[in-house]
Amino acid sequence: MDTESDNLLKQYSKLLGNKVIKRVQKKAKEFENYNILHINATKFGGGVAEILHNMIPLMQELKINVDWKVFTAPEKFFKISKKMHNALQGNMDIKFSDDEISSYILQAKSSYEQIRPDGDFIIIHDPQPCPIIKFAEEKKGKWIWRCHIDTSNPNPHAWDLISEYLPLYNALIFTKREFAKEDITTPIFQITPSIDPFSEKNKQLDENIAKEIVEKFVPLDLPLITQVSRFDPWKDPLGVIDVYRKVNEEIPIRLVLIGSLAHDDPEGVKWLEKVKNYAGDDPSIHILSNLDGVADLEVNAFQQVSEIILQKSIREGFGLTVTEALWKKTPVIGGNVGGIKLQIENGINGFLVDTIDETAEKVIYLLKNPKIAKKMGEKGREKVKNEFLLITHVEKYLDLFKNLSNP
Ligand code: UDP
Repeated sequence: MDTESDNLLKQYSKLLGNKVIKRVQKKAKEFENYNILHINATKFGGGVAEILHNMIPLMQELKINVDWKVFTAPEKFFKISKKMHNALQGNMDIKFSDDEISSYILQAKSSYEQIRPDGDFIIIHDPQPCPIIKFAEEKKGKWIWRCHIDTSNPNPHAWDLISEYLPLYNALIFTKREFAKEDITTPIFQITPSIDPFSEKNKQLDENIAKEIVEKFVPLDLPLITQVSRFDPWKDPLGVIDVYRKVNEEIPIRLVLIGSLAHDDPEGVKWLEKVKNYAGDDPSIHILSNLDGVADLEVNAFQQVSEIILQKSIREGFGLTVTEALWKKTPVIGGNVGGIKLQIENGINGFLVDTIDETAEKVIYLLKNPKIAKKMGEKGREKVKNEFLLITHVEKYLDLFKNLSNP
């Protein structure tokens, strides 16, 4: 008999076939009575919150007891943790004062006391709560640290701050094996992030409806080139404006920069101002955020209606926005870095680029060759279907739980 809670699995079954769903259900059955706990820093903004919001209902539908908790922390802590994020992604100029270091660790103690993590598998996301494990009096379950950022070339001071906690974990997850430093002794697993194809952000929209949504914000008189990203230096929003200016000399376009302000990202407001100043009063540059009413459905529509999606990151753990756009058959031009390289096959479903000139050149090429752009978009959807859907992600977690349960 159909029940409401069958919903997601039914939809996956239609998309991928029943065999895949049965396989995942069989794996999930082994963990039916287990308790899984995810912990991270924020319920809103950025890729981690996006994934967890979607993953929890799917795991629940698979009858897994799963919970997601966030800790609260003062503004000061998020300034330190953003510094750490930047340093771990490779900003070598950053240094930490003794006061900052002790605040980071003291916050982990407080986070531990707030949450009292308990479960068979406790998954700690990202560096902010990494030291929580140090305060666990008794480690009953298996503890997993899930790193979502590109730590392939970290600032050594920042790496020292987290590396002492890594041996306390039972397993570490990185988006790419190469993001993990070679001297790590804890077992490492490579798991890529994913999107929920049925969510408000990714569900198929009728073309006219999608256009109507976009037109509430931006006229559709010229081709749209869009980047959806937090306002953050690693996402290179100023470089994107340079690309727009170069392209615009040859083909008139509109540039849309959509960026939500994440709760754990104190740099967002400052960078939004920077981006606005850099754009000046150009009426063809549209800077939008959640404060303008651009939420999941609107992001979806922009990703579907835009001719090209850019993700011109300089460092990128994964870049869910790339997968989101590929799923909508929109070709993506992305920075030739980190997790973007797992998603874009250069020249097949988009382009990987290193410079502003190269990006502008590829934008012009795709605008002049719509048939090729369409083909690339179709390849993009296949790639996501095969590798980056949430159900595949959950299956990889189940395989990891199994692995950790069999010593
Ligand atoms: N996002 C959004 N609105 C915005 C900007 C970003 O909903 O204005 C979403 C975006 O669609 C994606 C996530 O936030 O799902 C960003 O994840 P990504 O991995 O690309 O980058 P992160 O912010 O984690 O570095």
